[in-house]
Formats: sequence, structure tokens, C-alpha cells
Amino acid sequence: MRMGSLFGIRIRLNRLFLLLLFTLGAVGLLPQAMMIFTVVLLHELAHALVAKGSGLVVDEVELLPFGGVARIDDVLEIDPRVEMRVAAAGPLANLFLIGVGLVFLTYEQLPQEWVAFFIKINMTLAAFNALPALPLDGGRIYRARLCGRLGFRRATQHAARLGGVFAVLFAVSGVVGLFLGYVNLTLIILGFFVYAAAAKEQKTAMYVLMRYLVRKQGELRRYGCLPAEHIVAVGTTAVGEVVKLFVPQRYHLIWVMNDTGEVDGLLSEYDVVHALVELGTATPVEQVLNRK
Ligand SMILES: [Zn+2]
Repeated sequence: MRMGSLFGIRIRLNRLFLLLLFTLGAVGLLPQAMMIFTVVLLHELAHALVAKGSGLVVDEVELLPFGGVARIDDVLEIDPRVEMRVAAAGPLANLFLIGVGLVFLTYEQLPQEWVAFFIKINMTLAAFNALPALPLDGGRIYRARLCGRLGFRRATQHAARLGGVFAVLFAVSGVVGLFLGYVNLTLIILGFFVYAAAAKEQKTAMYVLMRYLVRKQGELRRYGCLPAEHIVAVGTTAVGEVVKLFVPQRYHLIWVMNDTGEVDGLLSEYDVVHALVELGTATPVEQVLNRK
């Protein structure tokens, strides 16, 4: 469900999250539902604003019970350093809000049980997102760390698989809890959410390269031709560094030089992005050249 926009970012509410909030409201927990919604929104806005500040185009954020998913349509999302910064912003916002809550606790005229509930939601979101599993923020940081070695696609698979494992653990511990007489339906529901979102992340990773190509083709079709932009790189330069020099509306050609200053060969933009997704951001351009 589309809710409108804030700071130029479209906000969407996941249908199941809406259902969860409605259910809470229906059983007389409307204020709690509103508070959960507000904290999740603040968490998500922190991601989106840091992404915007890093020069990314944020189209839309979708709010999910465990935080949310920002749709960032940019090849820069595969820059591990940017992804780490954007991912850390959410849990850091929650830590900040915990601090605010603790200050509020010292004001006795404020309804203490509400302040305590506010702190609890923020603690849950921060702790939950510290898990190194996609689609959680910790999973994004974990993926960014793996990217250099494994490539974006395989790094995503690793982190998303962990997401699946945690999802099953949540659901199972929720069910075991039910049998032991400790009802925690949220855990079971969260298990399903995380499982579905982890599967989606894995699928999207396959499309990063394709999406990039589609956009490039679109640019080419729109303009008919694009001016070439030449980049000269020594063989040991990582593809992650080369991609940072890419600018829109240009087609990049990368000249690879050897130690003696001679040209070893020419790489296209496609070769470089392909290597980045498949082999990792740390892959030297000479290795990409040797693969051809
Ligand atoms: Zn988050």
C-alpha cells in the first residue's frame, strides 16, 4: 500500500505489516501498533537519508515489521562501503532512540510504561538487525564484507541462505514455545517474513547485472549513441575502484596498462560490471582481461 512520500522518498506499507498493525488495533492495542509503526518508519528513514546523502537515488521504501527494504535503483548499491554505511544507519537510529527513551525515563510525569515500550521496540529492532542474515541490516553488512572475495551474487547467496536458516529457527522456536505454553506468535510470523524476504534477495541478486545492462541499453536507445569515456588503469586496480569512475550517459572503455607502461588490452564497461558481480569488487582488471 502506498502511503505518500517523505523527503521525496515514496513510502509503501507491506500488506502483511498492515495486517499485523490492524490485528493489533483490533485486539485493542492500537497505541502499541502506532508506536511500532513510527519506530519502523524512523529506522527506515535513517537508511534512506544516508543513502541519499551518499548520492544514491532512493525510489521507494517498503515498511516491513523488522525494518524494511529500501529500493535503491543504482549500480552504486554494489559498492560495499556505501552499502555498509546505509545498512548501519537503521540500527544506529534505534540505538539513538533508546538513548532518547532512557532520558525520557527520568521524567516521571511521562507515562513510564509507554516509554519502556518505546525502548523495548527499539532494542528489538536493533538486536534483530544485528543478525548477519539477509534481508536484515546485519546481513547487508555481512554481504558487503564478502563482496570483495566472492562477488556480489555469491555473497548475496551466502547471506540470504543464513537468512533462511534464521527464519526457520524463529518459526521453530515460536512453535516450540507454543507447546511449552509460551505464546509468541510474532516469532512465527517474523520467521515467515524473513524467509520470504531472504528468498527475494537471492532472486534480486541475479538481476543486478541484468538491471544494469537494461538501463545501459535504455540509455543507448534513447540517445542513439553515447560518448565514450576512457579510463586508464594499471593491471592491479580493483574493478570496484574502476566502477566508481563511471558516470551516466557515457560508455566507458577501460585501457589496462602493464608495469612497463604498455597497453595490455581493452575492457568494456560490461566486462567490468560482469566481473564485479561474478568475481568480486577486489578483482584486479588484469584478471578480467586474462579471462577474455
Ligand atoms: Zn534496517
